[in-house]
Amino acid sequence: MQLRFDKPFTQQEAIPPAGIQAAIEILSSGRLHRYNTIGGEESSTSLLERAFADWQDADYCLACASGGQALQISMRAAGVAPGDDVLTNAFTLAPVPGAIAAVGAVPKLVEITENLVIDLDDLARKIATTGARYLLLSHMRGHLVDMDRLMELSARHGLIVIEDCAHTMGAEWDGRKSGNFGIAGCFSTQTYKHMNSGEGGLITSSDPEFMARAIMLSGSYMLFDRHGAGPDTRWFDDISLDTPNMSARMDNLRAAILLPQLAALDQKIEAWNERYDLIANTLDAEGMTVLPWRDPRGKFVGSSIQFRLPRISETEALAFMARLALRGVEVKWFGAPKPAGFTSSHHSWRYAGGFDLPRTDAILAGLFDMRLPLSFSTDDCGMIGAILTEEIEPLDGRPNA
Ligand SMILES: *Cc1c(COP(=O)(O)O)cnc(C)c1O
Repeated sequence: MQLRFDKPFTQQEAIPPAGIQAAIEILSSGRLHRYNTIGGEESSTSLLERAFADWQDADYCLACASGGQALQISMRAAGVAPGDDVLTNAFTLAPVPGAIAAVGAVPKLVEITENLVIDLDDLARKIATTGARYLLLSHMRGHLVDMDRLMELSARHGLIVIEDCAHTMGAEWDGRKSGNFGIAGCFSTQTYKHMNSGEGGLITSSDPEFMARAIMLSGSYMLFDRHGAGPDTRWFDDISLDTPNMSARMDNLRAAILLPQLAALDQKIEAWNERYDLIANTLDAEGMTVLPWRDPRGKFVGSSIQFRLPRISETEALAFMARLALRGVEVKWFGAPKPAGFTSSHHSWRYAGGFDLPRTDAILAGLFDMRLPLSFSTDDCGMIGAILTEEIEPLDGRPNA
């Protein structure tokens, strides 16, 4: 009998009991707003900022309303002004060019390589042709570019780097946490990311002036001294008067359910990588598919997996996904002419002007994507691997066909 998988790919783990308990306490207190504290109490949001800064090895942390808001606040705090060009990877999720547009700047997309990271040669070219001073580097799907080369290139051209770490919370390059290379690291706690508060964002930085601006921008009502991981209040002397309030705070309820998740994050990363390796080994067997090469200097978090069938046609790709869907395996394709769901491509960002990205398009045409929620056991992943193998083997578009 044919194997059929029957668990949903969009099912996250439950919030841990300690998080549920903390949420009930916040709800019972009625003090949901981060600045609504009594006596000498420290708000859950402030506690989360301290715990996350600690975990991330950054001096400062700001919790805010979403990952997209983290990006917008960071660009503004780093000096991006309306009309500025902001370079970013052509392979990223819609909130990234969206955040650039939201601050009135202009996204300039840079080609990617077959390893799904930003193409440093095209980056150098586009720094030269645009004169851009900002790079919003998106570590899309957790793939890390050679950060030594990237930072060297950025320093040479005076480029200010903001890292989009929505998929690299917990990842490292050469022993240093992703997010600690540029002026700021931006994280998302939206349901499908490494921690889940429904919506939410975190910014880390070790630059006090940047962080003072970010705190004001997030909407601190001049209560900037109530931040668990903010810079000394002297940094706010002028900044507090010169920076508008954009109201994008995180509330105590979300922070309270994130705190116990942060404590368990390192364990979760191991669980993800175990599942990733299991499926990657299957997909890598005898050149069945092409997996992005992962530099040994990187420590990755395998919360999703991407594989390429570089010669697949549109008809074959659609039929392949349909057959997988019938067997309960949800695989997305970045090559679809109309991007669907979370699988966006630059073709759906027409507002930004349209881009000529032949190399990226050629890669996306054969790129498939699968979530690995921790609600799946390692046995589940074994079964998914077996189903993928059975459906890939007959394809004409597979590399070894
Ligand atoms: C999720 C995500 C973001 C930001 O997400 P929000 O949904 O705004 O929290 C940014 N970049 C990437 C690559 C993402 O996947």
